[in-house]
Amino acid sequence: MAVETERDGHSRFNFVDRNLIRACVHCGMCLSYCPTYKLLGSELDSPRGRIYQMRELQDRKITVDDPNFQLHIDRCLNCRACETACPSGVQYGRLLEATRAVIPPRSETERVLKDLVMNRVFSSSVLLDAMGVGARFYQKSGLQAFARASGLLRRLPANLGTLEGLLPRMQGGVVKARLPELIPARGAARYRVALMTGCVQEQFFSLTNAATARVLAINGCEVVVPRGQVCCGALHTHGGQREAARALARRNIAMFERTGADYYIINAAGCGSTLKEYHHLLEGDRRWGERARQFTERVRDISEFLGSIELNRDLGEIRRRVTYQDACHLAHGQKITAQPRDLLRMIPGIELVEMNESDTCCGSAGIYNVTQFDLSMRLLERKMNHVVATKADMIVAGNPGCLIQVAHGVQQRGLRMEAVHIVDLLDRSYRLATGESSEVR
Ligand code: SF4
Ligand code: SF4
Repeated sequence: MAVETERDGHSRFNFVDRNLIRACVHCGMCLSYCPTYKLLGSELDSPRGRIYQMRELQDRKITVDDPNFQLHIDRCLNCRACETACPSGVQYGRLLEATRAVIPPRSETERVLKDLVMNRVFSSSVLLDAMGVGARFYQKSGLQAFARASGLLRRLPANLGTLEGLLPRMQGGVVKARLPELIPARGAARYRVALMTGCVQEQFFSLTNAATARVLAINGCEVVVPRGQVCCGALHTHGGQREAARALARRNIAMFERTGADYYIINAAGCGSTLKEYHHLLEGDRRWGERARQFTERVRDISEFLGSIELNRDLGEIRRRVTYQDACHLAHGQKITAQPRDLLRMIPGIELVEMNESDTCCGSAGIYNVTQFDLSMRLLERKMNHVVATKADMIVAGNPGCLIQVAHGVQQRGLRMEAVHIVDLLDRSYRLATGESSEVR
């Protein structure tokens, strides 16, 4: 018999508003858009099937400990392609996150690991910096090249050696450069914006953050980089660690409020989607609910923001054939698809070639390529087939996770192709026009 216990302030059965589940009318329109359904062909691995299982849980016909239920919920990418496809407006992302919040850790090891990674490392900029220094030292000192050439990685337990292959080329030196707290606009300031530098983004893509600040400044923005900002909580929210995510959200809201900025800018799609949903995360919180709502109104993805202002059009020519990968949390989470394409078309010399299924998940999906490695690699395989068919020599995306994943696909296939963040490409073009170095980093 099912035992009802409390977790995340909800009972394991009444974990979400019933109306959110009832919104699904079982029409099946979402099925052919769902990557896991396309791969596995099983109703239980489709949005409709997963919502049906959530309903079963609410009706106490299954329990959160049911291994089959856990399997199908674990396999979901939280890509939200089903939300875009759904004519009934089902808020699948909210349903999934509420469901994951009531699934307990499967073992003591998982509990300890989750606590260590989510509550300690991702909640502490000191620990994140230390981890970043270690990873960059490993890569830049030659240790990584030695480990790969010597075959040492093949002897690591589980699939740690294979996972090491996913480690992207980290930008910057061993000690990462820190952006100043205030970057003045070039010319007259038209906007004051605050830049969210991200946690993983700051460790892996610090130069992309610097490029973002330059592109904003050259477009008339005074850029504030709030000290004390922390991880947005995306990994926590997606993994069901909602209380930890709420603590991070409160800290970020307080830090960004102080900046007096008109807009809060983010260049990582997954984080942007989470920041825009802080009001859901803090719903019912008397002290923070309204502040969260006001915060979310100011959040803009970088391409969304640039697409909404009058731009500096003094851009240098870059003659490349480019294909664009829609990050799930940009296309489906934030419904931003036109602006990045418009920005690409604005750069002289860029030829934009659309790939098939550009808005289907590449298999990165947060830590999906770690937790569901085989499925993730099958999705990457499918993605790379579409990329290759375009004959592009550059893949552009607006999310670090996608860039890491497709760069792995490029490396695996030995392709001569760059995986580049859209803001890096724009920055390169601006710098060509101003005669500054536009070296590829
Ligand atoms: S989630 Fe939407 S599209 Fe999918 S079955 Fe339910 S109502 Fe239909
Ligand atoms: S979030 Fe993505 S993987 Fe999950 S059910 Fe929806 S479409 Fe399928």
